Amino acid sequence: MKKHDLLKYLDDINDEVKELTLEVWNNPEVSGEEKKSANLFREKLKSNGFEIKEIGGQEHAFIAEYGKGSPVIAVLAEYDALPGLSQSLDTKFNPVEINGPGHGCGHNLLGGAALEAALAVKKYLEETKTSGTIRFFGCPEEETLVGKVKMVKAGAFDGCDLALSWHPMNINVALENAFLSNNAIKFRFHGISAHAAQSPESGRSALDAVELMNVGANYLREHIIDKARIHYTITNAGGAPNIVPKEAESWYFVRAPYRKDVEEITERLLKVAKGAAMMTETTVDYEIISGCYEMLPNKVLFDLTHKNMVEIGVPKYTEDEYSFAKAIQESLDPNMVEGEIKKFISSDGNEIAYIYEDVLEKDKSNLVSVSGSSDSGDVSWIMPMNLFATATWPLGVPAHSWQATSSSGSSMGIKGMAYAAKVFSGIMYDLLNNPSIVEEAKAEFEKRTEKRKYVSPLD
Ligand SMILES: [Zn+2]
Repeated sequence: MKKHDLLKYLDDINDEVKELTLEVWNNPEVSGEEKKSANLFREKLKSNGFEIKEIGGQEHAFIAEYGKGSPVIAVLAEYDALPGLSQSLDTKFNPVEINGPGHGCGHNLLGGAALEAALAVKKYLEETKTSGTIRFFGCPEEETLVGKVKMVKAGAFDGCDLALSWHPMNINVALENAFLSNNAIKFRFHGISAHAAQSPESGRSALDAVELMNVGANYLREHIIDKARIHYTITNAGGAPNIVPKEAESWYFVRAPYRKDVEEITERLLKVAKGAAMMTETTVDYEIISGCYEMLPNKVLFDLTHKNMVEIGVPKYTEDEYSFAKAIQESLDPNMVEGEIKKFISSDGNEIAYIYEDVLEKDKSNLVSVSGSSDSGDVSWIMPMNLFATATWPLGVPAHSWQATSSSGSSMGIKGMAYAAKVFSGIMYDLLNNPSIVEEAKAEFEKRTEKRKYVSPLD
């Protein structure tokens, strides 16, 4: 079985993986509730001869392992959906369930490509008796940015040499840098309740403290680095206007390109919270409910990923798929679509393109700013990790949109997934047959982490 045969074998198993992927898409489950989705993956891998290991304390996380000896390759899979993004396979906004969950980040495809590649590489290991172990990681709770952080903390990734990851998107690209580091913090203020008209002087408002903290945070913005982001929401604003609120709570995100910046800004935000409490004679406590790292680059794996993406080649589309993509694109802001065409296809923006059908050049990959955060970042700090994206959505479609949900259940989405599965398999073939690449990736990782060690953001 050569590389060519391995890639061809993926075509043979694409239909069965597609079926599972669409079942996950049709039964979206949000972070922490991925019972059915995790079981679909678990059962499929088990029935294909993988050994299943559970991860203590995380019901919807698991490891499925096949093979013997080194290298030990981790393949990361996710399957959680997003609240409020329910959408049927339609080019107009048409939720299956009003405000219901939906796969607006394409994690049904994310898990699907990892599964397809795991099944194919298992076949390869079995037939060729090559030394190597594949570990499929079923990772829950990505959208709440905490699943893999908990898994890292539990030691679930111990013993792996490197990790492979991808994400659905609207272009094909190998990424060297990605994700903002993040802290999610809940601030709880405690005051004294009182009748708001009869005895306001005896009340101390926890809501006042929340509001003053927000004012302070908005002034803080001017004095932090440009690339940092602070966003918040009030999760408890008290009850009725005629009662001075005794309890109030806000929920903050602090994001920045590097973990150390997030930690520094978090420290300053804590001072703002304390100041607000002092001003209002309330008290405050806080909880860092999740935190994650930016992705640590690995040039060796970045090069290997890009090479495979080009070598394998992007999918071909049917007229129906172009029509679908065109109709989806027409539902978007034309400026946004034009902006992407300018950025990725032609600088005058005059070209018409519904689907991105290239692999972005390596030197342009930094044009793709993945300014969200992901708990995959933490994995990249404990072993070398790659990252790539394929076009599962029409050009211009943003993640976390109904358009992304619809596309993730479409044949275009499935083609992007099948392409990702081939890229994964191609990379694994190269790693299994060239142990020196594994060693180089590890040496680069050691060098990059020599002075900066990973410390779990969770207590
Ligand atoms: Zn995602």
